[in-house]
Amino acid sequence: MSESIRVPSPAQPLVDPFGRSITYLRVSVTDRCDFRCVYCMSEDMTFLPKKDLLTLEELDRLCSAFVRQGVRKLRITGGEPLVRRDIMTLFANLSRHLQSGALEELTLTTNGSQLARYAADLAACGVKRINVSLDTLDPDKFKAITRRGDLGVVLKGVEAAQKAGIAVKVNAVALKGVNEDEVERMINWAHAGGMDMTFIEVMPMGDIEPDRFDQYWPLKQLRARLMETYTLEDIPYRTGGPARYVRVKETGGRIGFITPLTHNFCESCNRVRVTCTGTLYMCLGQEDAADLRAPLRASESDEPLDAAIAAAIARKPKGHDFIIDRETSRPAVGRHMSVTGG
Ligand code: SAM
Ligand code: SF4
Repeated sequence: MSESIRVPSPAQPLVDPFGRSITYLRVSVTDRCDFRCVYCMSEDMTFLPKKDLLTLEELDRLCSAFVRQGVRKLRITGGEPLVRRDIMTLFANLSRHLQSGALEELTLTTNGSQLARYAADLAACGVKRINVSLDTLDPDKFKAITRRGDLGVVLKGVEAAQKAGIAVKVNAVALKGVNEDEVERMINWAHAGGMDMTFIEVMPMGDIEPDRFDQYWPLKQLRARLMETYTLEDIPYRTGGPARYVRVKETGGRIGFITPLTHNFCESCNRVRVTCTGTLYMCLGQEDAADLRAPLRASESDEPLDAAIAAAIARKPKGHDFIIDRETSRPAVGRHMSVTGG
């Protein structure tokens, strides 16, 4: 651990104007990725110059400032977080907050391509649960959706994570006409392997080549379909996120539904997101943001950073207003999901 690593002392907890405590931070550590999923990126993305990115030390300072102000759950995401060079240094340093008890959970969302390599290191850093994004179990479809991924490599990564003692949740974006015919197979596979399976509605973020309306499959329809095969029991299980869960009587496993478009979950929002350049977004579906890189770099002291965070939380909006229909298949916000990390 380097000398500049700070241990937080408790400051004011973060509460927004609507009385919601901000206890969950998602940090994108890179905008780069080894995949180009069709709903997430365009084929030829221009990535940020490396000099614009926060260094791993700055990311640590930033995360630690949030932990000091009451954040209990930290999710590392991207782009693909595991393609950032030396990313395990960040995990190793952040794990001190788990050891001190300041942080309840350190986790990540990954496409799984590098998991076989890093699973044991992640487990050693105190990572206990991860989300792996996987939209299909068909190798050809997988290649088509990700434009370059190898399903076999991801499945080996999932295996490695489980072997290392990390619980895996599988996240799939529900894509009309793409994985529609596969959802039962995916559920059976995930549940047989002891994994929860969560479906996400495609969100209107960033310009991409395909039309959003063509991809959009409302989870209400997916759920109705599943009820033809399974007995779904509503359960109060929560993981601190917006997913609503059911238990499948036949498999004993859980299915989660994340429905930003058909069900508004903003009332209980406890989270904010930081990009790899230190831009804080108070809401996934709004453009308003605060620059944290300038205060980070302005001073050795964390005071300007703490003040900038508090000022930003004081203007967290009430909610978002995503819609997708034929008239509004344009993005609701211009940035891609890989910028804020979902
Ligand atoms: N690369 C990692 C991964 O794929 O898990 C982490 C970043 S990725 C942006 C996080 C999640 O956002 C993934 O589960 C992905 O499927 C989801 N995602 C990306 N674009 C989306 C969109 N337009 N609508 C809904 N989910 C999206
Ligand atoms: Fe990469 Fe994740 Fe976006 Fe796919 S969803 S292109 S894996 S960042």
